[in-house]
Amino acid sequence: MKTMSKTLIPIFADQLSHGLSSLAASDPEEAVVLMMEVAHEAEHVPHHSKKLIFLFSAMRHFAKELGEAGWTVDYVEMTDADNSGDFTGEVERALKRHDISQIRVCEPSVYRVLQLVKGWEAELDIPVSITFDDRFIATKDEFADWAEGRKQFRMEYFYREMRRKTGLLMDGDKPEGGQWNFDKENRKPAKADMAFPEPLRFQPDPITQDVIEMVKTRFKTRLGNADGFFWAVTRDGALEALDYFLDHGLPSFGDYQDAMIGGESFLFHSLLSPYLNAGLLGPLEICKAVETRYLAGDAPINAAEGYIRQIIGWREYVRGIYWLEMPDYVERNHLNATRALPDFYWTGETDMECLKQSIGQTLEHAYAHHIQRLMITGNFALLIGADPHAVHEWYLSVYIDAFEWVELPNTLGMSQFGDGGLLGSKPYASSGSYINRMSDHCGSCRYKVKERVGENACPFNSLYWHFMDRNKDVLKGNNRLAMPYRNLEKMDAEVRQSLMDQAEGLLEGLNTSKAKSYI
Ligand code: FAD
Ligand code: SF4
Repeated sequence: MKTMSKTLIPIFADQLSHGLSSLAASDPEEAVVLMMEVAHEAEHVPHHSKKLIFLFSAMRHFAKELGEAGWTVDYVEMTDADNSGDFTGEVERALKRHDISQIRVCEPSVYRVLQLVKGWEAELDIPVSITFDDRFIATKDEFADWAEGRKQFRMEYFYREMRRKTGLLMDGDKPEGGQWNFDKENRKPAKADMAFPEPLRFQPDPITQDVIEMVKTRFKTRLGNADGFFWAVTRDGALEALDYFLDHGLPSFGDYQDAMIGGESFLFHSLLSPYLNAGLLGPLEICKAVETRYLAGDAPINAAEGYIRQIIGWREYVRGIYWLEMPDYVERNHLNATRALPDFYWTGETDMECLKQSIGQTLEHAYAHHIQRLMITGNFALLIGADPHAVHEWYLSVYIDAFEWVELPNTLGMSQFGDGGLLGSKPYASSGSYINRMSDHCGSCRYKVKERVGENACPFNSLYWHFMDRNKDVLKGNNRLAMPYRNLEKMDAEVRQSLMDQAEGLLEGLNTSKAKSYI
């Protein structure tokens, strides 16, 4: 009997959803699922060991689950002898192994991979259909329609549309609690003697253990600690992590969302971004679960609204901007910043306590929370004038949840002002006083946060004024910066000069020569 030729369904590392549109459009009897661990994707930036472990292990578990559900899965491991090292090479090899009449693939999340997939029809001489990725709340077209004709994009207005669209925290056509946004209540500094929930830690099973060994031996140019891996790698695990957050983190999430405490890496944050971005959880199911806790009286409105805003607001908004502005977005450099990142971004070895803590926990866990990413590592890179592309590559490498569509607008746009203010109305630049207000780092730092010049002065202080001064031609017209520019103008000439000299001394002293050779 002649066997029927089949549909090949490639599934990428961030498409680990059982309801994926390419699977939903196919019959398991007539399809071969292809999953590929390829060197090009794993090495084009030096990914953190725990990110590699998370993604490969989650892929292997997902392939196993698909097999149990009746799908034929062709899984290419990183160390397979003939692994070509890239997606196109692997699809080409799979076409030779199976009798395939067409390829069906869910649209990739990253511009570069979408271009690859679009080229397969011509390159591999086979029909390719790209199915719509329905795992987001706004479509790319919806975002483009919303953005059309607006001079400035503001997340808040887009977010309100998403509240109306989903009905989340809505009381008829009014926002629940009488206001759209409770952010003002979400800026409490935490205290060191507060009790924070320990993250839920998952014991690596034999599949994950194999991946840990593979990553340790196969990847010479990885960074971060491969030991102590505790992330979930399955949908069931991710659901457990969601429940754990709802029970232990959500009630205080709002109040302490922006806080930082030495030695506390997670506070009340959810640690759900890797699961969400890999497809193990969906944005709506998380938000509905949060809303349910609020309606049951288990979480206050500022926590529930604050959390839901991050997902249906910020996450969808940055995705919209990514697709609207690519491909040249990645090259933007509004402030013409060109400096390499200091070596300590790869080692955590610095006397600046705030940076030491944020980078240290990043290298350990592949995780830092939003304010650490924005106001510590991002702020410092912005103040020293680091090349936004280099900063983008660092963030893409080090975080377990980093995929270009979400990482790039956050890094290049929000944190480095590389897009000239598409994402934020002013640069997220601050002196040491913000860090002192929101954290307890300054108390144990060798630098004095209140000092601006001299050997012990907090580097953020003079670097802040240097940043404002050197970018004045570009930034002075920004209304939201009127106050600091007035203060700069009013500043005594001698004081101003001493700040500039202090900052220049610091910039010259930054060791950027060996960056990356530490990996
Ligand atoms: P929580 O604090 O518990 O927040 C809840 C959820 O909201 C997150 O899981 C995430 O899905 C979503 N969210 C919150 N803020 C944002 C945001 N600005 N953009 C998109 N989603 C958001 N997030 C990523 O998912 N991947 C990245 O590569 C990434 N890179 C970043 C780089 C920089 C410079 C900055 C400033 C932020 C970046 N973020 C990124 C956003 C945010 O820092 C992380 O989503 C968050 O820290 C993940 O930890 P969590 O799950 O504990 O988040
Ligand atoms: Fe960071 Fe300055 Fe505070 Fe030290 S004193 S922790 S460098 S802000």
